[in-house]
Amino acid sequence: MSETIFTKIIKKEIPADILFEDDRVLAFNDINPQAPIHFLVIPKKPIATTNDIQQEDDALVGYMHRVAAKVASDLGAAESGFRTVMNCNKHGGQTVYHIHLHVLAGKALGWPPYQEKLKVE
Ligand code: 5GP
Repeated sequence: MSETIFTKIIKKEIPADILFEDDRVLAFNDINPQAPIHFLVIPKKPIATTNDIQQEDDALVGYMHRVAAKVASDLGAAESGFRTVMNCNKHGGQTVYHIHLHVLAGKALGWPPYQEKLKVE
């Protein structure tokens, strides 16, 4: 898998507004927020897309969700609620090929999300 901008964030080669970090995952604010609260949870292990998640990653992907809930709670958004999204490939609207959980909160969210972003060919 080739390096992405998220590898550079993990390596601290470019800055990010980090909300949580440990040996397995990193959570940081999205640079282009789509809601009052919009952060990303990424594994430090590079996995390109949801299609590339292996059985050995099951615990890691579950942990990403638990970290999403912890950070949402830290930001006061657990009780009111939040949305988690993982886009996959072109039709899913994925632009960075290192899996990431979007966590959106801070207002009642409409559905479907990202309507204006999707330009499906
Ligand atoms: P995707 O479109 O792949 O589902 O989501 C990629 C997300 O990464 C987008 O929401 C985009 O705003 C965010 N993003 C891209 N580059 C950067 C960056 O350099 N820093 C941060 N914090 N977010 C980024």
